[in-house]
Amino acid sequence: MGGHSRLRRDAELGAGGDTAMPNKKKYNVNGDSGIKAQIQFADQKQEFNKRPSKIGRRSLSRSISQSSTDSYSSAASYTDSSDDETSPRDKQQKNSKGSSDFCVKNIKQAEFGRREIEIAEQEMPALMALRKRAQGEKPLAGAKIVGCTHITAQTAVRPGPKPHTGLFSWKGGCGNLSQDRGGVRSRALGRADPAGSAEAVLAHLPLSVPGFPVFAWKGESEDDFWWCIDRCVNVEGWQPNMILDDGGDLTHWIYKKYPNMFKKIKGIVEESVTGVHRLYQLSKAGKLCVPAMNVNDSVTKQKFDNLYCCRESILDGLKRTTDMMFGGKQVVVCGYGEVGKGCCAALKAMGSIVYVTEIDPICALQACMDGFRLVKLNEVIRQVDIVITCTGNKNVVTREHLDRMKNSCIVCNMGHSNTEIDVASLRTPELTWERVRSQVDHVIWPDGKRIVLLAEGRLLNLSCSTVPTFVLSITATTQALALIELYNAPEGRYKQDVYLLPKKMDEYVASLHLPTFDAHLTELTDEQAKYLGLNKNGPFKPNYYRY
Ligand code: NAD
Repeated sequence: MGGHSRLRRDAELGAGGDTAMPNKKKYNVNGDSGIKAQIQFADQKQEFNKRPSKIGRRSLSRSISQSSTDSYSSAASYTDSSDDETSPRDKQQKNSKGSSDFCVKNIKQAEFGRREIEIAEQEMPALMALRKRAQGEKPLAGAKIVGCTHITAQTAVRPGPKPHTGLFSWKGGCGNLSQDRGGVRSRALGRADPAGSAEAVLAHLPLSVPGFPVFAWKGESEDDFWWCIDRCVNVEGWQPNMILDDGGDLTHWIYKKYPNMFKKIKGIVEESVTGVHRLYQLSKAGKLCVPAMNVNDSVTKQKFDNLYCCRESILDGLKRTTDMMFGGKQVVVCGYGEVGKGCCAALKAMGSIVYVTEIDPICALQACMDGFRLVKLNEVIRQVDIVITCTGNKNVVTREHLDRMKNSCIVCNMGHSNTEIDVASLRTPELTWERVRSQVDHVIWPDGKRIVLLAEGRLLNLSCSTVPTFVLSITATTQALALIELYNAPEGRYKQDVYLLPKKMDEYVASLHLPTFDAHLTELTDEQAKYLGLNKNGPFKPNYYRY
């Protein structure tokens, strides 16, 4: 089936007005999320023109994961160390076409970046398939996309390392490798960033993809970050008509500095929890002036981000930081939601003895049915070898728990940023902190007992391991379809509101990933479709269905 027509047809099947767009979701600002109705844009340090001195700029540098720096320096034989002290903003670099409309740390790393992207492509089958399909019809022809996301080999596959792929024609791109404050962004800081590949990928992009100026480097200061965003947006003779954002900073910058740009912008695609939250707030306040697509809450993406990603990365994060063996170890996992289920499944498969804590009887019963002992944390805290939090809550592990843990107990968090373990309570004079290796601290009690605290209570997998490429393939494909849908939607299909990707498209993202597994999907017969009241081509489930 033809690329664009198929994509368009999918879009049309799944969307259109309130009836055909049942996924349309108003964000309940005071509802389940518990997030206060307050727009909190990070608009600090925007006076990027007042450039600090080199030393000042370095000291402003965002907190880069030490582990990321380690792996970078240990294997980056291509690194031109003489350049290290110079801020990319002070360098004169040109690509092979003579253009200097980009800003990366070291353009000389481009070749290494190309190879990294090629490795990533192998694990991103759906995106590659989508790119191939789009080659003929170019569903985003004429789209001028400005994006702000963390840039890795995987995200670089989006614009495509080869010219004229047709799917994306970026005119501006802003990568951000240095932020440690948001979930997804910090992925680029992972310890396993192979030999600093992210930096090399960045170097490759302006070389290889025409019209893909990228502005990003590891260790950007806050000031650098806003400078990069502005360089992407504020270009003479060029104006974006689509925004691809991850965290809402780019959207915010355009709102604040260049509101007139919205006259030409057809839509915003937002990936992160925070960014989506900001969009719903704007919508609620009647200030959203273009349609926006919330790809964060697409079912396929959610499943991969939460359940499958954590099932794989929990072991990786623990192994890289502690070199431990899992067989026979007693582990308590706090929270049996999507993340908790993933962690428990992985540890059980490795022969660990897994306990679960829960507050919700339904999830608790699920844990029992899956063969886990449901306990209160207090009941097992003295005996367990590992404590893992996955609740999205705060102070799940308190100082009292930490005091009672046995010697060498490993404590880590896979849930919400850094709230789940009361790490602040460990910063008292009687306890000694000893940095063992990056992301690994021993906290030592006066009697010699020590616990092993990983990533100072921040997300273990994002701080200490990598996110599987396949997970990013799901996200990137979802984003690509959201861009195509918003860009090609007929006038009036989407209003100035926040929308979920039509379920049909969510199903399409999943179906594009099936051939990798040589998976054969059963087709409904006409009789069966009629019996179930379904269109043979989907959507196959109502919106309230829980997968
Ligand atoms: P979820 O709501 O499905 O699961 C959380 C579970 O924790 C719920 O079942 C809840 O009842 C339980 N819970 C809440 N407070 C508890 C407490 N005090 N003790 C025991 N159980 C408690 O959410 P989820 O999708 O599993 O996500 C959990 C957290 O992980 C979120 O903060 C999410 O943002 C984060 N997350 C992390 C990653 C990662 O890569 N590490 C990926 C996705 C999501």
